[in-house]
Amino acid sequence: MKERLLFLGPPGAGKGTQASLICESNDYLHLSTGELLRYEVDKKTALGIKIKEIINGGKLVDDELVLEIVKQNLALSKRRWILDGYPRNISQADSLTKVLNELEQPLEKVFYLNLDEDILVKRLINRGRTDDNEEIIRTRLDIYKEATQPLILYYERLKILEYIDGDRDLKTISDDIKQKMA
Ligand code: AMP
Repeated sequence: MKERLLFLGPPGAGKGTQASLICESNDYLHLSTGELLRYEVDKKTALGIKIKEIINGGKLVDDELVLEIVKQNLALSKRRWILDGYPRNISQADSLTKVLNELEQPLEKVFYLNLDEDILVKRLINRGRTDDNEEIIRTRLDIYKEATQPLILYYERLKILEYIDGDRDLKTISDDIKQKMA
């Protein structure tokens, strides 16, 4: 069973939902940078106050800042984890590779969940988070295409990328992922 996983894909593809399902039933740590950052905003910590506008505007938070959070959580983690929402660009991917090499814990698999854009937009609007209004969704999708999408090729070259069709029911998708984790 693979123990160090990454979920990649556009906003609304179901990364967080699928990561939660797998983590619940298999004792993995779910490391979602979006959730960790939103927690800081909700608690109004110094960091939260600093990043609130960035998150609500659908822009990316500073690389160094997110890397610090990822490092802290990896240090606390058990052996098994699923990264969800990190990395978001090539620079973050390079930092992650470096950190994991230092820990002697390289990534074992990257699951790339995808869906058609019109379905993504509908799903996000229905989700109704504060950063889920139509204009901000467009910003997030544009940033995804420009900054995050190149990671597909990055991990394809490392031969650890696994494509997952996100346009199926939850259980079918999680069964597919579980099978590919074996
Ligand atoms: P998510 O829950 O993954 O959709 O993330 C929500 C928001 O948190 C994003 O729109 C960004 O503002 C911020 N965020 C999450 N992960 C990252 C990351 N790896 N790098 C920069 N910003 C991030």
